[in-house]
This record gives sequence, structure tokens and C-alpha cells, in this order.
Amino acid sequence: MGDTRILSEVIKKVYEKNITNKTGNVAQYIPELAKVDPEPFGIAVATVNKDIITVGDVEKKFTIQSISKTFIFGLALDLIGPEKVFQHVGAEPSGEAFNAIELDPVKNVPYNPMVNAGALSMSSLIYDKYGNSSEQVILDFFENLCGEKLSINQQVYESELNTAHRNRALAHLMNGAGIINGKVDEKVALYTKQCSIEINAKELAIMASTLANFGTNPYTGKSVFGPITARYILSVMFTCGMYDYAGRWAVDVGLPAKSGVSGGLMAVVNRQIGIGLYSPRLDNSGNSIRATKACVHLAEELGLHAFEFTNKGSSMLDFYI
Ligand code: GLN
Repeated sequence: MGDTRILSEVIKKVYEKNITNKTGNVAQYIPELAKVDPEPFGIAVATVNKDIITVGDVEKKFTIQSISKTFIFGLALDLIGPEKVFQHVGAEPSGEAFNAIELDPVKNVPYNPMVNAGALSMSSLIYDKYGNSSEQVILDFFENLCGEKLSINQQVYESELNTAHRNRALAHLMNGAGIINGKVDEKVALYTKQCSIEINAKELAIMASTLANFGTNPYTGKSVFGPITARYILSVMFTCGMYDYAGRWAVDVGLPAKSGVSGGLMAVVNRQIGIGLYSPRLDNSGNSIRATKACVHLAEELGLHAFEFTNKGSSMLDFYI
């Protein structure tokens, strides 16, 4: 544990720069999400040395949504193995919206595990292995990622399941293509449940720090997934985590990241820190506007871009703490 004063000041400055930004709208297509308070804004940074720096509404719970895809991809890799996983999903950016109803026309698999099609395919693999126990396997895994007890927001789950027509369409498309092997309704339900797990920005930052720390939660010391799995996850986050904004994000921020439609955003500085942010107003790609801008500013202030020429970010703990 170190002196976090400089880092705290930077994070506070970035928070203040963005709190006044009220552009964008909360997600509308899931009725329960359309009702959430748009105002909360929180930034949390968790270092691999167990320092946590927070500002704003970092205790406010929200559903993890698509950020879960990142970890379920990792869980599938660890439990089922890369060979089988990559028979069921690609690792190419789609350049399309997260809920696009399409498969890679050449390989006939979902483009990547960060879009809905690929995530449904990964949840299907978990279901094929664990059946009715899958929900518990997933919940235990997420609890280990952040070292906290978690639960599913039942209202959001039911609200999304009742309106999950596109996800059902995708699952049936994949069932027809031989990627999903039956039990379509159960698998869509499992995927929707994993998206409805509630977390806060602080827990999200710790989950991200577990990725920064090669799969071992720095706070509990528990190995949650292997280092090679961490490398797979971070690579796909880097190229596909921000959907059809992934390319510009790589230019402006240059960090592996994953967003969710409830307004959560997670970014990772390899070997250094995990960043968890929450602010529900979204842009047209379904990414939180304040959280995205805050990451641009954090990357600028702290030199976090993967290709930063000063190389501050890659040894930022020595630099700032
Ligand atoms: N549960 C949401 C869905 O399937 C997740 C989408 C997202 O967060 N981008 O549409």
C-alpha cells in the first residue's frame, strides 16, 4: 500500500471535468433500465498492490450487463479450453452494433465473445457443461473476481427476459448453425441472468485489477483464472470491447476495456491497475458517455495508452504511488 495522493488528485480532477456532462440517454430497450436514475457518476481505481482510490457514486449498484461477457469468455476458456471455445466464437471485431443479428459469413461463428451472439455462444457452452448449476457456477466466479457477495437483480432479469426478442433470434440462428446445441430458452435465460448480476464501480475496479494481475484477485490472493486466459481476455477486450467504437477507443484511450448498457465501464492497465466507472447515460454505440470521456482524460493525464511514448502508464505505480 502506498501514498495515493497524486493519483487521487488526478482522478478527482477527471471526475469534476465530466460530472457536468449530461448528454446521452439511459438505455431504453430494457424497460427496467429505462427507469434508472441517470445522475450517478463514480470512478474507482484498484491497484495490483491493493490501493483503492475512489470518487463519486462508487457504492451505487448497477447490473453488470455486457461487462459480464468478458469474464464468461474467460470462464469458458478455463473450464472448456481454447480449442472448443474457438470452434464456437471468433476473435475478430465485427464493426457492428453489439446486438447485430449476424455471424461471420466465412467462419459461420459469432465474430467475437464481446457482442451478444458470441456471449450467448459462451453461456451456451457453460450451460452444456453445468446445466442447472450454471447460474451458481457463474455467481461464484463473479464473487471470486471481486471478493464480495453478489446477487442478481430479479426485476432487471425479468424485464430483459420478457423483451429479449433479438437475443432469442440470435440464439435460434446459432442453434440452426450448430453453434448452440439445443435448450435455447434455458441458455438465453442464463445469459440474461449473468447480465443482471449487480455490482458497483468499486467492485468493478477490483474485477478489472484481477485482469491486470493475470487472473489472481490482488485483494484476496485467490487465483480466479489462469494467466493465459487473462491474455486472451485482454486481447479481445482491446480489439472488440467497445463494439463499433472499438477502433476510435484504441486511438483515444489505448486500453483493453469493456462497457455495458447499464452505464458501467471497465478498463485495464496491464500489471498496474483496474478502473471501474459508472454513469448511465449512453452514446449511440451503447457506451457510457461520461465514463468514456473520463477514460480519455485519465489516459491523457496518466500516460496510460498502451503505445504511450513516455511509458508512464506501463510503470505507473512506480511513477504515481
Ligand atoms: N443484456 C444486454 C443485452 O443482451 C447486454 C448488452 C450490453 O450491455 N451492451 O442486450
